[in-house]
Amino acid sequence: MSPRVAQPWFSLNRIDDTITLLTEPYTAPFIRSNIWHVRGRDRDLVVDTGLGISSLREAAPELFDREAVAVATHAHYDHVGGLYEFEVRAVHPLEADTLRSPTFAALRVADFPPSLRRELARDGHAPGDELLTAYPDRDFDPSTFRVRPVEPTWLVEEGDAIDLGDRAFEVLHLPGHSPGSIALWEAETGILFSGDVVYDGQLLDELPGSNIADYVASMERLRRLPVKAVHAGHYSSLDAHRFAELVDAYLRHASSEQLRYRD
Ligand SMILES: [Zn+2]
Ligand SMILES: [Zn+2]
Repeated sequence: MSPRVAQPWFSLNRIDDTITLLTEPYTAPFIRSNIWHVRGRDRDLVVDTGLGISSLREAAPELFDREAVAVATHAHYDHVGGLYEFEVRAVHPLEADTLRSPTFAALRVADFPPSLRRELARDGHAPGDELLTAYPDRDFDPSTFRVRPVEPTWLVEEGDAIDLGDRAFEVLHLPGHSPGSIALWEAETGILFSGDVVYDGQLLDELPGSNIADYVASMERLRRLPVKAVHAGHYSSLDAHRFAELVDAYLRHASSEQLRYRD
């Protein structure tokens, strides 16, 4: 029996006057990426776009009523599925090819490669499980799920500014989780959109394209950043204290792994 149909597909949560969080609640948490909408004076910013299995723009027409820069923090499928709905699509050059020719995407445990299936089993996902607890419409079929290929329109690199008119975000290139992972940093407010580099859950540094040495360097850089609030790629937002705890925990973990390899 297939799961029930859930509409609205997205949940909306106003964080403050200008920032709104959208998520897809009927998905397993590790593929439930946070979609951030930031209202700017001249244009808006969208950070990540979810799975793309239901229209993001139609779900919140009051937010998506005008031009927005849609930024992919990286090209993993749970972050880029809805990019096709936006005219301006920004990504780091090292992730661009994956947007053009999406590689791996799955909504059923059975469709994951064996190494990831083992990890999912440890998290309690049985081999026959689906990662959705409801479908966005009656005809939805998770076995045919693919991410739509899109051509990036703006390749953003370290130091580039994404200017919304009254506020601007700086691109930080923070490889490790993936080669072209970026975060968006607003120095004036201390707000960081961190993508999958830091979130309050198990950080992934052994995926295809991950690099632990790069991850360590990225974390050491982040540790020096005077953050006040972090809006992450998954799970809840972080204050400065929790952010520092997570960064330090990763650095400790990575250095103990290195010692183990040396033995
Ligand atoms: Zn990711
Ligand atoms: Zn993710």
